Amino acid sequence: MQQDKIPTIIIVGAGLGGLSLYHALIKNKDKREFNVKIFERESSPTDRWQGYHIGLSNYGAQSLLNCIPSSIASNLPKATPNTVPDVETHGIIITDQVGNVLLAPPTKPFKDFYELAKISRGLSSMIIYRDRLRDVLLDDVPVQWNKKCTKYVETQEGVWVFFEDGTQEFCNILVGADGINSPIRKQKLPELQIVNYGITHVGVDISIPKHLMDRASKIHGNVLARKTLGTKGDSTFMMTRLIPIKQEQDDEKNEPHYRATLVYSYPSELDNVDTESEKAKVDDNDPASVIEHVKVLIRTLRPDCELTDLLLELWDLAPKTIPNDPIKFPFKNYNPVQRRMMRDIDPMSIKSWTSSRVVLLGDAVHAMSPILGLGANNAIQDADKLSQALLKYTDNNISFIEEYEKEMLKRTSADVLKSRNVTFKTSTPLGPFGVIVRDRILKVINVMINFYSFADNLIFKD
Ligand SMILES: Cc1cc2nc3c(=O)[nH]c(=O)nc-3n(C[C@H](O)[C@H](O)[C@H](O)COP(=O)(O)OP(=O)(O)OC[C@H]3O[C@@H](n4cnc5c(N)ncnc54)[C@H](O)[C@@H]3O)c2cc1C
Repeated sequence: MQQDKIPTIIIVGAGLGGLSLYHALIKNKDKREFNVKIFERESSPTDRWQGYHIGLSNYGAQSLLNCIPSSIASNLPKATPNTVPDVETHGIIITDQVGNVLLAPPTKPFKDFYELAKISRGLSSMIIYRDRLRDVLLDDVPVQWNKKCTKYVETQEGVWVFFEDGTQEFCNILVGADGINSPIRKQKLPELQIVNYGITHVGVDISIPKHLMDRASKIHGNVLARKTLGTKGDSTFMMTRLIPIKQEQDDEKNEPHYRATLVYSYPSELDNVDTESEKAKVDDNDPASVIEHVKVLIRTLRPDCELTDLLLELWDLAPKTIPNDPIKFPFKNYNPVQRRMMRDIDPMSIKSWTSSRVVLLGDAVHAMSPILGLGANNAIQDADKLSQALLKYTDNNISFIEEYEKEMLKRTSADVLKSRNVTFKTSTPLGPFGVIVRDRILKVINVMINFYSFADNLIFKD
């Protein structure tokens, strides 16, 4: 096989990580030129709903800005709208099941994405639109769609990549950015285990009318990430922006609406309990039955109170059919609402591996519980670090990959384990005494981190 003078890099997976890497490699081409190709199993940009708000941290934001050229950065506000002054607070608030505040970590104010990216101490996060970030990142990228990678074969010279349609491509470096079920990871590191937490979560994107958002904000203030902890191992999570969206649904009151992501999590064993009121069996291909299941659980596990009523009304806004008309539906949410198992890839299931021309990034190698909002941030940081490592590319020496993998594993293993730990801690059913202890501990932590942050701000005026 005759190698091109310019080495070829193949990226499999056009998600947030793969696209960030593509841009970074093109951006750096004056320093080191590669022939970069990117393949995606989906048939088009709108094949699958990319929904969900996500929280981008100051570290993720810095890496994203490192990766993308100014032409892409100029479109970022579509995905990362500026903070609305005096209306929005980027941060998280955690309450108990009746709305008493347990934890409200202090937040550093920032007016836009660029200010967020400049924060160098501590962790700050901005709620952004995940679907629009994907759209922005797709701009100017010649993704080859409908190309599902099935396997690869490494040779002396490089790597052959095989696709389901019977085609194959040769490259010098193969990057698996192909998500949690990555066939590339399964082939390269079959020892890496997926851990199933025994926790189910249901996530949905909705459009909330102002009168309901006002009620929600009475409980949680204007903080944009809102979590409530039940006592039976169940929890709710809502991410929103308080920016009115263009109204695409018929609405008699013609009031402003806001987009929001709702997630309900609970111990999976509750999927097997027959509640009297649950007449129909839950069917993951029937969104109405999944939403009804969530509402039955909320009604059964939560006390009668304003917060429970509000949660039920919010879940009523979830789409109960599979809308295959992406234009008509508010968020082009054309994938059905389904129950999903919470899982991660256990970094402890492998001690070390031999670096090769096949390298992994993002969820493909370190999928983690979404509870701390660190998955996409790490995928983008991987892209940043790998693009820097690739500046040292030579045909005969792959020690730069080893350096990337060492840094990536150290950074992400800690986050996988931290996310798992917090998920288990917040998903354990508690008795009355356990609830008192949990609430006290969280309240003490709340006082401590607020005090620490106050002192930190006095000392470091960053
Ligand atoms: C409910 C929820 C909330 C979340 N909230 C946050 C948050 O607040 N903050 C945060 O940082 N993260 C969050 N995450 C996680 C975050 O979305 C992921 O960690 C991130 O998208 C991973 O990026 P990636 O590029 O590695 O993988 P993905 O975005 O999954 O992209 C992988 C791509 O590879 C493609 N692909 C898969 N297999 C193949 C194949 N065989 N051949 C070709 N292409 C293939 C897929 O179609 C996909 O486009 C959340 C996740 C969930 C589920």
